[in-house]
Amino acid sequence: MSILIVDDSPDERILIQAILKAAGYDHILAAESVPAAFRILGLDGTPHDSARVDLILMDIMMPEISGIEACRRIKAVERFRDTPIMMVSANTDPLDLQLAFAAGALDYIGKPINKIELLTRIRSLLRLLHEIDRRQAREQELLEVMRQLQEANQMLLRLSSLDGLTGITNRRQFDDFLEQEWRRSVRDGTPISLIMLDIDRFKPYNDSQGHTAGDECLRQVATAISGAVNRPGDLVARYGGDEFVVVLPGTRTEGATQIANTLCQRVQALGLTHPDGTGITISVGFASIIPSRTATATDLIKAADQALYQAKQEGRNRAKQAGTLTLVPHSNKT
Ligand code: GH3
Ligand code: MG
Repeated sequence: MSILIVDDSPDERILIQAILKAAGYDHILAAESVPAAFRILGLDGTPHDSARVDLILMDIMMPEISGIEACRRIKAVERFRDTPIMMVSANTDPLDLQLAFAAGALDYIGKPINKIELLTRIRSLLRLLHEIDRRQAREQELLEVMRQLQEANQMLLRLSSLDGLTGITNRRQFDDFLEQEWRRSVRDGTPISLIMLDIDRFKPYNDSQGHTAGDECLRQVATAISGAVNRPGDLVARYGGDEFVVVLPGTRTEGATQIANTLCQRVQALGLTHPDGTGITISVGFASIIPSRTATATDLIKAADQALYQAKQEGRNRAKQAGTLTLVPHSNKT
């Protein structure tokens, strides 16, 4: 605990110092003027190490610079914002006291100094200081907890929209995304394409190679599909099991056909094989539409799913486009 006494009277300085020493305060600094105090506090503009001061006892009436002005200047410095200053003066003029408190003083004690009163006041000020420190530390802790909570929330949000196995978008997020893009397409009158694909004969692969190899296959297929879809507005998601979906906003039939075929090629190029030597392939169904207000996103899913079913029926490892009739012809609905 370090206390700075600022008083132009040597007798007062010696008296206060003696009282404080006797009470067990062992680090006491004394200044005979405000400039001397500023030197100790490192406020005189010269580069030197400043002393650590926890409490200042400041006489009001001093030549050169008064205690009130000194108080104001010290309090203007950020690092002394919480350092308590107690004014000490024989002059109890209420205006002076008012000015001292306005300048940032926290307490006042009259001269002649009463030993008990001085020590009691100092103890209360130090308790107050300790309480301020404790609160500030608590505030910092709370801010840190809030930051961590925000981080955890963001992570949860991210995780809740991703598929745990493959790391690509999950079904729930796909549903929301498709709904949103569908509405945008209706509003803007722009096309939208949906591709659905399913790994061929994945069950026997899983059964023969084991679930771990099956999982790895799903991850590789997810990566291969994601690599084929490059536009920022596109979305690749795991629809469930060995089924994946690709949403292509703003893309019409030609674009969707091209991507659907690329997907087949990319999965084949992975070189994953069944025990009988045949390669892992996918079947793809896709549908493209400029949505009308009467059709829904579910119609688009149904159409792509039907095309996928056809691709399976026709022998697998192929991409099939939804027939125009499966896709809610707008002319019939409007
Ligand atoms: P088809 O060509 O008609 O699609 O035949 P298939 O054997 O692939 O049949 P289906 O698509 O119905 O089989 C899906 C299989 O995917 C069933 C299940 O064993 C497997 N599967 C689903 N989810 C997972 C998973 O998370 N991990 C693994 N390893 N396998 C999964
Ligand atoms: Mg399958």
